[in-house]
Amino acid sequence: MDPTKIVDKDASFFGQPGGLQTLFFTEMWERMSYYGMRALLVLFMTASLQEGGIAFTVASATAIYGLYTGAVYFMGLPGGWIADRLLGGQRATWYGGIIIMLGHIVLAIPSKAGFFIGMILVVLGTGLLKPNITAMVGQLYSSDDDRRDGGYTLYYMGINIGSIIGYIVTGYLMENAGYHWGFGAAAVGMALGLIQYKLTLPKLKGVGEKPPKPLGPKAAKRSWGIIWFLLASLAVYTFLALNNYVSINPVAAAESVSIIFTAIFFLFYLSVFIFGKLTRDEMKRLGALFLVCIASTMFWAGFEQAGSSFNLFARDLTDRMVGDFEIPTTWFQSLNSFFLVALSPFFAALWINLSKRMINPSYGFKSAIGLIIMATGFIVMFFASQAAASGMKVAPYWLVAVYFIHTVGELCLSPVALSAVSKLSPKRMAGQMMGIFVLTYSIGNVVAGRIAGGLNPDDPQAMPELYWTIFLFGVSVGAVVFVLALFTRKWEKLAPDDGEDEHPGAVIDANEPVGKP
Ligand code: GLN
Repeated sequence: MDPTKIVDKDASFFGQPGGLQTLFFTEMWERMSYYGMRALLVLFMTASLQEGGIAFTVASATAIYGLYTGAVYFMGLPGGWIADRLLGGQRATWYGGIIIMLGHIVLAIPSKAGFFIGMILVVLGTGLLKPNITAMVGQLYSSDDDRRDGGYTLYYMGINIGSIIGYIVTGYLMENAGYHWGFGAAAVGMALGLIQYKLTLPKLKGVGEKPPKPLGPKAAKRSWGIIWFLLASLAVYTFLALNNYVSINPVAAAESVSIIFTAIFFLFYLSVFIFGKLTRDEMKRLGALFLVCIASTMFWAGFEQAGSSFNLFARDLTDRMVGDFEIPTTWFQSLNSFFLVALSPFFAALWINLSKRMINPSYGFKSAIGLIIMATGFIVMFFASQAAASGMKVAPYWLVAVYFIHTVGELCLSPVALSAVSKLSPKRMAGQMMGIFVLTYSIGNVVAGRIAGGLNPDDPQAMPELYWTIFLFGVSVGAVVFVLALFTRKWEKLAPDDGEDEHPGAVIDANEPVGKP
């Protein structure tokens, strides 16, 4: 056998490229700060002034929560573009992390102005960091490297380890020291992420170092001018709003935002087709990705009941007593992250084993399965809410079962969809496409909030029908995606043009002797 033909792959991080270590831990700490802070948000907003909160109504607080989570992911769109054309993924991630950390520091200062300014900073920073760090994961692999799906599953595990740390640490600090200590802990988490990012940056071997399609100096200068102008306008608007010169109705804003975000998603996708100078094959690959995006949006709209209607179901309709111990309501939400971490190794191994057997289910197929499995979880909620409607609190196992099923669905769809974005997008628009994809989270989150509005725990009689409808809707869309995936499967297999998928970190040195560590 000719040894020069054998590929020497960097497999120093659990069989994956060493650069994954850098991205895994940075994203783990970023998610620790994001979920840790998010867990306190509604509680903080609705708590009275005496309790250390800011005494908003539940309606305003949940609307702000929906707007915040929607905005965090929405900003991925400009964030991805900035990396592709101006900064490159590495610097976008670095500056994004710094802005997030500053946001949490400001949140830790007890004042209403600090609260809103802190949230705005987290939104801006996450927009820069989230799509770009996620896109860089994919760039660690050459286009024919089968480890990509497994790599994203591992990365996704890091996200959820971070979430667990976040829930535990900020939840504990909130109870024992106050909300602002919880927000401060989120800042410390992000700082740890930044330190390890800087220290282990060389492992990325040049991935994301430069923007893949930089603007010329003139256009870049103009773009920075526009960006600074928009930021200055935002600062002025925030100042006016905080001083009551302009008023914002969060409930009304949340209602229009889901429609606006959906329209923007379609417009952007369309504009990539029209103005992206795509080859025919690139168009087909992005057509296949579109199907995954539809599945992803539907998935999150159902899945994100976790933070809203399932949370209230746990609080008001579930018998949380185990002997003398009352299970805290928030524990149910973190079940998702626990199951995810526990099941991830099996899924990573499953994809690797399937690909060794030359069985590589397409991205569309896996997304359809994920969506169908998630929708099936609502059958359990149908029966659980029927039992609750009879007036008795239900056993905690119902929610445990639902979270388990939803996590299995998430593992089939979510890391796989990230992998699909990185594989199917032209490399020159990697960040931007990840930004468009992250919009599916944004829309899903906002729509989930609107669905949850119809699931009031004070009226459990209305619940079974709505849960059944979600099940039917989810399964039907899943079935359609499944059928369409039969067509898009061959589009996914089209090779990237001109080897543009290759990059410094993934270039394989065929001249290296076999077995070199
Ligand atoms: N838990 C995943 C993450 O934080 C997905 C979040 C989402 O709402 N889609 O990346």
